[in-house]
Amino acid sequence: MIGGGVAGASVAYALGRAGARVTLIDSGQHAASRVPSALLNPVRGQSGKVDPQAVAGLRQTWAWVGELARAGEKVPCGREGVLRPVPDGRTREKFVRHLPPPTDLSHVWLAPADAPAPLAPGWAHALWLPEGGWLDGAAFTAALRRASGARVVRARATGWAARGVTLEGGESLAADAVVWCGGAVGSGWAGEGGVYRAGSLLLLDRAPSPVPLSFGAYVAPAASGGVLGATFEAPTPTWAPPRLPLGSLAWLLGKGLALTPDLRGPQVTGRWSGTRLSGLRCGQGEDGVWRLAGLGSKGFLLGPLLAQALARELLGRAARPAAPGALPVA
Ligand SMILES: Cc1cc2nc3c(=O)[nH]c(=O)nc-3n(C[C@H](O)[C@H](O)[C@H](O)COP(=O)(O)OP(=O)(O)OC[C@H]3O[C@@H](n4cnc5c(N)ncnc54)[C@H](O)[C@@H]3O)c2cc1C
Repeated sequence: MIGGGVAGASVAYALGRAGARVTLIDSGQHAASRVPSALLNPVRGQSGKVDPQAVAGLRQTWAWVGELARAGEKVPCGREGVLRPVPDGRTREKFVRHLPPPTDLSHVWLAPADAPAPLAPGWAHALWLPEGGWLDGAAFTAALRRASGARVVRARATGWAARGVTLEGGESLAADAVVWCGGAVGSGWAGEGGVYRAGSLLLLDRAPSPVPLSFGAYVAPAASGGVLGATFEAPTPTWAPPRLPLGSLAWLLGKGLALTPDLRGPQVTGRWSGTRLSGLRCGQGEDGVWRLAGLGSKGFLLGPLLAQALARELLGRAARPAAPGALPVA
């Protein structure tokens, strides 16, 4: 495994549970998966689109959180639901068009005054998703890595092929299969183009809302206090270290204040910035290397589900020989 974010840790966990011996190589840098509070929100963005795998993904992630808890791993999380305030009737119609039947995904439309958390004035409707919630990205990812039983090598991989990996410094490791889960930063290091999107979270000394609120930006509880965040910088075709320009700070605060009147009380205690990569790749490439990457803003919603599917396919094909290739330099 190259990359130990939520994608790599999930694949390692799925493979480890199935009895595979896994070595996980991770540079420890710039993981988007360290997001302090990630939403498990199946109804996406400002269009209300629902990924065909969103409901299964949501349930898979919660199932793994439960498994990890039973194994003694504590992942700070809240399963109280997610509230999506909606500005007008047209947006509500769009959301309604995308929503699966309530038998597939529980959801309730509420008047803003009846919502389970106070909303700032101006919202026309509120969609309540009781199966959603938030979790601590770093804690979930670290717990999966530990529970996978993988040997973790703290290093940067510079080359990989179907049956081996080269580390910075020249050491080579052989394997029956290689899985690349380098995320945005790894894709940038490998010189791959893509759609890279940076965003930031302000860390708050207390949660501005008892349940996550999301439209444009999100506020949510976190392991300690709460967050206000979003992935909002303009997309770029190459990776760059994520930052928080002052103009973005003003934008973020404006979006937060539009969500909840309770944002005026909490103090900012820190900041976290990360970059996500869009363009899902899941499966084996022509070079024989397996990949799970490009999870966009759904790393925690879909990562475990897709990882499980990839691990099953990989183990199913493991008996068949893969063509050995020269290690390309990334
Ligand atoms: C601001 C923000 C908010 C977000 N909010 C949410 C949310 O609410 N809900 C949600 O589901 N998702 C959210 N996401 C998206 C989610 O964080 C990502 O989809 C997910 O973390 C991507 O995981 P990954 O494992 O693919 O990549 P990463 O987490 O980036 O991990 C990649 C790892 O691979 C390592 N690596 C890369 N290349 C190499 C190499 N050559 N050698 C060794 N190691 C290497 C890196 O150092 C890193 O540790 C958010 C993202 C951002 C930026």
